[in-house]
Amino acid sequence: MAVVRKKVSSVRTSAMSAQREVDLRQRLSDAGLLRVPVNVVAIAEFLGLEVVEEPMADDLSGYLEVRSGSWVVGVNSLHHRNRKRFTIAHEIAHFVLHSGQKKSFHDQTFARRNDDPNPMEREADRFAAELLMPEADVRQMISSGNTTLSGLAAEFGVSALAMKYRVQNLGYRVNQ
Ligand SMILES: [Zn+2]
Repeated sequence: MAVVRKKVSSVRTSAMSAQREVDLRQRLSDAGLLRVPVNVVAIAEFLGLEVVEEPMADDLSGYLEVRSGSWVVGVNSLHHRNRKRFTIAHEIAHFVLHSGQKKSFHDQTFARRNDDPNPMEREADRFAAELLMPEADVRQMISSGNTTLSGLAAEFGVSALAMKYRVQNLGYRVNQ
């Protein structure tokens, strides 16, 4: 007998959480922090987070936790620069969206977290992708002729794979 896993519904959470994201985007935009390539460390600091880089096992990407009363983002210093940027954006997402529910988040490598049964993880990845690759900038660059994944990825400071998911999510077809 086949085991059918229940398809998980949309990741988007409550209206309150969506409103919090809209407000945050406005504050970051007002502070000039959404210019591409987005400076995720500056955004973390703007939100009062401390960012520390430290060596970790390769399958760990980073964490968010409270230490001595302050929120700290840890990122695996041994990972590629683009990967570290995505990790920091992912931990910022946990802070913005989930820090009221948990005080500690430890993240393993994000290989296909799309399939992660924990909605918080998929939501954090969605938020991170939107933060690093703002829709308007992606569309504008593509319409101005930057149509290779590697070219776009370089502009946004992300991996080609992260770029591929993003453009697909925005409805573009990717030629192999
Ligand atoms: Zn996470």
